[in-house]
Amino acid sequence: MYELGRVMAELERIKAKRVLVQAPQGLKRVALQLGDELRHHGIDVIVSGGPCWGGCDLALNEAMEMSADAIVQLGHTNFVEQSVLPVIYVECRYDGGISSERLVEKVIPFLRPAKNIGLGMTLQWLNFLERIKRVLENHGFSVFYGQHENGRLYPSQVIGCDYTNMKIVERDVEKFLIIGSFFHGLGLSMITDRCVVVIDPETMHVGDMTQTAKKTLMQRYAQVCAFKGSRRVGVILCTKPGQKREGLATSIVSMLRKAGKDAYLLVLNEVDERFLPDEVFDAYVNTACPRISIDDQAKFRRPVLLPSELMVALGLGSWDELISKGEYFGWCVRNG
Ligand code: SF4
Repeated sequence: MYELGRVMAELERIKAKRVLVQAPQGLKRVALQLGDELRHHGIDVIVSGGPCWGGCDLALNEAMEMSADAIVQLGHTNFVEQSVLPVIYVECRYDGGISSERLVEKVIPFLRPAKNIGLGMTLQWLNFLERIKRVLENHGFSVFYGQHENGRLYPSQVIGCDYTNMKIVERDVEKFLIIGSFFHGLGLSMITDRCVVVIDPETMHVGDMTQTAKKTLMQRYAQVCAFKGSRRVGVILCTKPGQKREGLATSIVSMLRKAGKDAYLLVLNEVDERFLPDEVFDAYVNTACPRISIDDQAKFRRPVLLPSELMVALGLGSWDELISKGEYFGWCVRNG
């Protein structure tokens, strides 16, 4: 479900004649459908065949190479505020039927005996927020969620690198319930001491992320320790507009050099193990999407530390403090 009228009005306002339509893998079919509809309204449409990992990932180069007047990106909320080309973010909400009652019945055994629940959702499920909240309340739970003041997220919305809407209410709740994916549940579970329960409404698969998060944090700590013995370090600076943190990356290069390491700034668009040869670098620091380090570390043969983890590796912060403060992705939220 998307708002064609709003997209057309926006394209007319900016007088766009040719657009690049971009979508994550799961929405490529919807991108074609939207492309057909725009074409029907006289817009010349090019569909991006590349990946689209989040609202941070705008295919600006492709769009400019193809002389597009704007990018229409499906499936994400506003992320990049300033761009060389106009960007229209088109949200997609799930419009199939799911039973909120059945969903809540599935999660109740995982939530009880807690009474106060922090409720988070990914974008496509937000139409169900009020309904699921009400059903939980009918079962005796009190439900809490925050509203991120930067306006980038809807109330209760979570994305893979930003759980501010949950952290705002952390003190009020005993457990969190995430409606969406295990990927999002893991991210939250890594930065809170509260139990995080996840349900995927499409599969109705439910899980408690506590053990997975503990295991992931132990693996991250092992990478922090492995990093300490490194000599030549590549500092990754990603060119994706919402992941490009040039100031942070260059200050990390200086910090590493002061710490006696050979540090190099590595600029790339796709952070992929095939482009980061392990015979050249002993380790990396990743200033791009934090989930590459968290979820894809196993693909790399060298440690790929996050800036927050680097502070621990260099002795400028303590691991326990990093975990207890839930600041794992803080650098990313502040700089993204
Ligand atoms: S930086 Fe990573 S987790 Fe954050 S929105 Fe982009 S792709 Fe998602």
